Formats: sequence, structure tokens, C-alpha cells
Amino acid sequence: MSKHIIDDAKRCLQCKNPQCAQGCPIGTPVRDAIALLLGGSLEQAGALLFANNPLSLVCSHVCHQENQCEGHCVLGRKGMPVFISAIEKYISDFYLNIYRPTPSTGEAGRVAIIGSGPAGITIAFYLAQRNYAVTIYESHDRIGGVLRYGIPEFRLPKTVIDRLGEALLQTGVTIRPNTTIGMNLIIDDLFRDGFDAVFMGTGVWRPNRLNIKGESLGHVHYAIDYLKNPGVYRLGQRLIVIGAGNVAVDVARTAVRHGCRGVRLFCHLDASGVTARPHEMEYAKIDGITLVLRKAPIEITEEGVVFADTELQADGEGNPRAVPIPGTEALEPCSSVIIAISQGPRSVIVSSTTGIDVKENGLVAVDTCGHTTRPGVFAGGDVVTGAKTVVEAVQVSRRVAAAIDEYVQETKA
Ligand SMILES: Cc1cc2nc3c(=O)[nH]c(=O)nc-3n(C[C@H](O)[C@H](O)[C@H](O)COP(=O)(O)OP(=O)(O)OC[C@H]3O[C@@H](n4cnc5c(N)ncnc54)[C@H](O)[C@@H]3O)c2cc1C
Ligand code: SF4
Repeated sequence: MSKHIIDDAKRCLQCKNPQCAQGCPIGTPVRDAIALLLGGSLEQAGALLFANNPLSLVCSHVCHQENQCEGHCVLGRKGMPVFISAIEKYISDFYLNIYRPTPSTGEAGRVAIIGSGPAGITIAFYLAQRNYAVTIYESHDRIGGVLRYGIPEFRLPKTVIDRLGEALLQTGVTIRPNTTIGMNLIIDDLFRDGFDAVFMGTGVWRPNRLNIKGESLGHVHYAIDYLKNPGVYRLGQRLIVIGAGNVAVDVARTAVRHGCRGVRLFCHLDASGVTARPHEMEYAKIDGITLVLRKAPIEITEEGVVFADTELQADGEGNPRAVPIPGTEALEPCSSVIIAISQGPRSVIVSSTTGIDVKENGLVAVDTCGHTTRPGVFAGGDVVTGAKTVVEAVQVSRRVAAAIDEYVQETKA
């Protein structure tokens, strides 16, 4: 692999005004990292990427590079952009092995972080570097959020998250697993116990429902529940996945890797409704997964799913809307159904405390720096934006970490 990395790095033109960084939501300094790599300064290249984004290694695996750095590289105009993701992976993987942080002194203040997904991890690294005593509270037994319990192993090895967890411990961060804030402990307890500020990075973990008959049957599951621990499910050989986004494709490809052969994705719209990345769809096809378009689920039975054909109409904003055609209902037999039509936030925290406003859709209301309506409580990541991407969670977290720092120092002065 290394030979290809070097050959590809040598193709970089070291642009004066690098478009790759412009295309990245967090301006990853690709050009300078490549120059350091080729100059024999691998550690400095890694330190540069890590300082810009502690999740650089994760992003090299899961970012949508075709729309971001690689999609903007000038060499793409001539046919083949620099293979930035592979170069970033090589550098960041090396660096995470040798990363030895200076532990936080804890003297800047105490911050509680609820949730250990990309948002929580990024804030923890930034605040520990600024000498805060940071405690992370996590509902699951291990850290990572969607990185561990959503994105499948074949796209993001869990060892990457384990190594990030080790790095967090080395920076002096305390991790309290199996602890859901909003149940036994609530935000008020955290302030009572001396935390100066609280960050909510709790993501979106409530699956959207179809709201049709049969949704509670035993062979029907939700995508994010399934992806948490696919090994415990007995799906049989004929799986219907309802949805055609990236999560639906992750479900389908995971099921194939657990022995399910007849996997079909059903989308109520035409090809315009397939929101999964094109290359993920190509992989799905290679895995033997089929895509069925313009079918709306009407009812789920023990035998399968009743779908109706749809016709497309424009909604008030001009977006396509699938309308079931009466009389076209037919049963598609299957052994299991997995519903993958996105997620929304749970209300466990906001319903157990006061002063934190949410919007109509349940997402936490914040200003541009992550201040919620309750002083000292900040929020960021999917719980604010709805289901987005890792790099977007990192982007906002850098801003929110600075705002938390400013808030704590002002209140202590
Ligand atoms: C299946 C799947 C595949 C995806 N693939 C990609 C991809 O390829 N590329 C990409 O960029 N993005 C991808 N995403 C989106 C990306 O993973 C999310 O945007 C990102 O993880 C959001 O980070 P977050 O920190 O806001 O939330 P999360 O990752 O959801 O983390 C939230 C954490 O908070 C914890 N938590 C929740 N409530 C509480 C509580 N009350 N107390 C304590 N802890 C709590 C949760 O257990 C979780 O660990 C994918 C999402 C899914 C579901
Ligand atoms: S745009 Fe492409 S060629 Fe230019 S600096 Fe970035 S990676 Fe190198």
C-alpha cells in the first residue's frame, strides 16, 4: 500500500490555493500534510492533521470525499484527483499509534460531556488540551456512538475507536460508561456536583416509524437497532429493507455478511429517492443486493410486506412525493423486515430537566456557538442538526469547544 500512497502523494501539485481544503468542511490541510510526508516528516504530518481534526483517521474512512476534498482537487478536472483519503488514512493511522498527549492539568474548569460520538469525542480532546477536567457520560458500554454502534466494521474497524478511547484516557479524560443522563442522574445533578458546563452530544437514536399496521411484529426491526449488534438477529434468507439511504445500504450489506442472501432494498420514489452514495450502491450491487423502486409499504404481515406502486407528484416545495396507486397492492414475501427511514432525537434529557428548549422536531435549539437556552448547557452534532455526517459534527464541535471555554472562564472571573 505504501508505494501507492507515495506515488499518489507525488502527484499533488502543491497548489498555491488548494481547492481540496476549500472543499472540506473543516479545511483539512491536505497539501501541507502531503509536503511533510514526502519530506520525511510523517509525525509532523500526523500532528498537523490531528490538531485540525482529532477524528482525522475516522474521517479518512467514512467521509464523503467525492463531494469534499477529492471532489475539489484540481487534478480531478483532468480525470483523476489525488487519492486524499488513502493518504490521510496512512498518515493518521501512523500518528494515532505514536500519539502521546500531555495530560490535562484540569485547572481550567470541569466540563461534563453527555454522549461519546464524534461530537462528544471532539469536544473532549479540545477541552482536555485546554486543561479542563473532562468527564464523558455514555449510555452504551463503550465509546464511539454511531462510529461503534452504527457504521459497520467493514467500513470502519472498531479498533480505530478503541485507539481513540485510549488517547482520550491518556489526555486525562474520565469515561463513565453505561450511564444515561436523564434517567437516574439528570443535568441538575451534574451542576450540583461542581461541573462548570455541560455539553450534550447525544445524537439521534429514535428510529422514524412507518406508522403502518404490522410494524410491531417480531420479524420487523429498525435499522439502528439492528446495526448495534447484527449477530443476535436471525433474519432468515429473504430480507426486505425499507429505505434507500446510506443507513439502508449499511443494513443490507451487513445482512449479506451475516449470511442473508436474498436482500432487497425498497424505495417509494424513483432513482431520485436513492440518497445512498453512488459507490455504496455499486458495492451493494456487487454484494448481490437488489433495488426496487416506486413501491410504498402499506402493511406488514407475518408473510411479508404489502407494497403499492407509486406515482410521483410534486409537493408544495417542488420535491417529488410518492403517492400509492389504489388497486396495485401486492404482497412481497420475506422472512424479515428492517425499516431504515432515518432517526430523530430522544427526549430523555430535555424532559428530565428545565430550561432547554427544543424545536418542533425535537432537535435542541442552539445559537451558532452551541449555547442552548439554559446557561452553561451546550449542544452540538446530530442532536442539533438531525442526522448529518461525522465531519459536520467535528466542524461544529470545534466552535462549541471554544464557546464552552469562553463561558467557563467568564463565569469564573
Ligand atoms: C448507520 C449509519 C451510518 C453512517 N455512516 C456515515 C458515514 O459513512 N460517514 C459520515 O460522515 N457519517 C455517517 N453517519 C452519520 C454520523 O455517524 C453521525 O452524523 C455522527 O455520528 C453524529 O455524531 P454525534 O456525536 O452527534 O452523535 P452519535 O454518534 O449518535 O453519538 C451520540 C452518543 O450519545 C450517547 N447518548 C445518547 N443519549 C445519551 C444520554 N442521555 N446519556 C448518555 N449518553 C447518551 C449515545 O449512546 C451515543 O454514543 C452514519 C450514521 C448511521 C446511523
Ligand atoms: S487540490 Fe489536489 S493537487 Fe492541489 S494541493 Fe490539493 S490534493 Fe494537491
